[in-house]
Amino acid sequence: VAASLLPERELGANQWRVVLVLVDISDLQHLERVRTDFVANVTHEMRSPLAAIVGFGETMTDETDGFSEVAKRCLDRILTNSHRLTNILDDLVRLSRLENAGDVQHEAIDLRAKLESICTSFRELSDDKHQTLRLDHEALPSRLSVDAALLEQAIKNLLDNAIKYTPEGGTVAVEARVVERTLTIDVSDDGPGIPLEHQQRIFERFYRVDSARSRAVGGTGLGLAIVKHAAALHGGQVVLESRPGAGTRFSLRIPLEEWR
Ligand code: ADP
Repeated sequence: VAASLLPERELGANQWRVVLVLVDISDLQHLERVRTDFVANVTHEMRSPLAAIVGFGETMTDETDGFSEVAKRCLDRILTNSHRLTNILDDLVRLSRLENAGDVQHEAIDLRAKLESICTSFRELSDDKHQTLRLDHEALPSRLSVDAALLEQAIKNLLDNAIKYTPEGGTVAVEARVVERTLTIDVSDDGPGIPLEHQQRIFERFYRVDSARSRAVGGTGLGLAIVKHAAALHGGQVVLESRPGAGTRFSLRIPLEEWR
């Protein structure tokens, strides 16, 4: 049952007439369960045939001697699109695991070292685009209790987007700190920014500001949905600040007291 309390009329100083609304949401919850189970089953069933397509396709690339140019181009397109589909399936599996997950797995980790290794793994991508990639984690305590895998996935998705959508020569920064028992990790860039009318919706599955462009840079459309779930599972949130032409900042905020 979902309950909400709505103020109806002020009766006097600090006195209100309120309406308590109780709604039976069992059917909605059941439908949501059916949806997530369906997605989990479909993605699972699609993985093996797709792995076979990729496997046979890759074998063929070593045997293209008698192939015409058109056949070679077709094979290339088959492989590119199979890899895209594999990425989408992997992200769908990640998302459905998060949707079905009950709990986060806390462990005390050195988040500074974790952030350094994440940034190192993205250095090649940012160097290729002649971007500056900055990391500021001085204000972090030496050890923090977090769900390391979940947090790593969220930070990677944000960093991947920042590098992908920021043009050559831009700057991408990761800044992490703990203030008043809230862990804040900001991933910011000086890229194109996100228009206000899209900001509410970009956390939805497959929602993109510019579909053609996002596909061209290799996205699955699921990255931010995963980030939002990862934050929510920690009892936290993702805050977006962005203006077209003035860059973007995604801020992952995780209250430490909830799960320490
Ligand atoms: P995708 O795989 O398409 O990147 P995401 O869920 O990660 O999917 O992001 C959704 C959309 O949000 C992107 O397609 C892009 O339009 C927009 N977006 C995300 N991050 C940024 C960013 N740092 N700068 C500009 N646009 C962004």
